[in-house]
Amino acid sequence: MIPMVDLKTQYHHLKSEIDAAVLDALESTQFILGPNVTGLEKETAGYLATAQAVGCASGTDALHLAVLAAGIKPGDEVITTPFTFIATAEAICYAGAVPVFVDVDPQTFNIVPELIEQAITPRTKAVIPVHLFGQPADMAAIGAICERHNLVLIEDCAQSFGAAIAGRMTGSIGAFGCFSFFPSKNLGGYGDGGLVTAATAEGAETLKMLRNHGSKVRYHHDVIGFNSRLDDLQAAILRVKLRHIDRFNQERRRVAHRYSEGLKDVVTVPFEDGKGVHVYHQYTILTDQRDTIMAALSEQQIASAVYYPIPLHRQNVFAEQCRGISLPVTESIAARCMSLPVYPEMTDQQVDQVIAAVRGALAG
Ligand SMILES: *Cc1c(COP(=O)(O)O)cnc(C)c1O
Repeated sequence: MIPMVDLKTQYHHLKSEIDAAVLDALESTQFILGPNVTGLEKETAGYLATAQAVGCASGTDALHLAVLAAGIKPGDEVITTPFTFIATAEAICYAGAVPVFVDVDPQTFNIVPELIEQAITPRTKAVIPVHLFGQPADMAAIGAICERHNLVLIEDCAQSFGAAIAGRMTGSIGAFGCFSFFPSKNLGGYGDGGLVTAATAEGAETLKMLRNHGSKVRYHHDVIGFNSRLDDLQAAILRVKLRHIDRFNQERRRVAHRYSEGLKDVVTVPFEDGKGVHVYHQYTILTDQRDTIMAALSEQQIASAVYYPIPLHRQNVFAEQCRGISLPVTESIAARCMSLPVYPEMTDQQVDQVIAAVRGALAG
């Protein structure tokens, strides 16, 4: 049995460190915005080399709070990718703004800068690239477009903790960087959690207000905010895991490179352009034989999954808004993509077993 992720093995490897951190947090009883949240924010800002980091309740909330902190208002347009998890677009809609989807690159699966520029209208206020599957988007080109057109750049880093491009960590490049600590993410907690980085102190101040009922000083409320705080218990666990994140990501890259060596002649393997560090939140291949491969893997108790079968512009919720819109590269990827198990604890032997199963499916 080979799962998509193996959280249990990871917990057992880290058990003494994590258990000690959790017990300390329980003893402290400072459960809401306690010392572990402050500690994690400081350590994350340091790790990512960003000015500020603000914990919040989930990756979805991280995006929502960033969109609001960016000043996005009802009727504004925000350009983003259709090939992502729904939360990227939901956050735009929560603010009453309209997500405008543009097509992705066939090799990186990330938003195409030139298409962003073509989609800009007088209502465009922001751009949200997603570093999909851990592959950094083309931030130099996207950043230049945002600067030229005075747009706020918000990075969706839910899948890219530790990924870098041109020597900069994802989440340290735009005005805001939004991270998810969902358990299966590269840096995952044991429940929901999220974090927003901010390039400026004012940005961070606004985020801190928004996550805590619009309040800077207790019982003084300046704006309508939310209850979107990161739990101190989650922060305690995440601080332990943050100490191991480089090794986790290295191990993911080991698994990915072994897959690519073993599969590159039979399927389209993930692209690495050498400019960035891909951290393989997912290992996603393209093939016309998806159903055949998935059936064979399942028969051999090997997990696989399709991220994502339906692009956002084809979702019911956006049917009216996106009627007649065709984004052919995204549609072609969604029809042919599948993801194989990848996690730091995966052994070379397990990787070889998956490679053999994929090759066997295609040969048979
Ligand atoms: C996981 C994810 C989110 C949402 O994160 P949650 O913590 O589950 O709310 C947003 N965007 C992308 C690209 C994701 O993969």
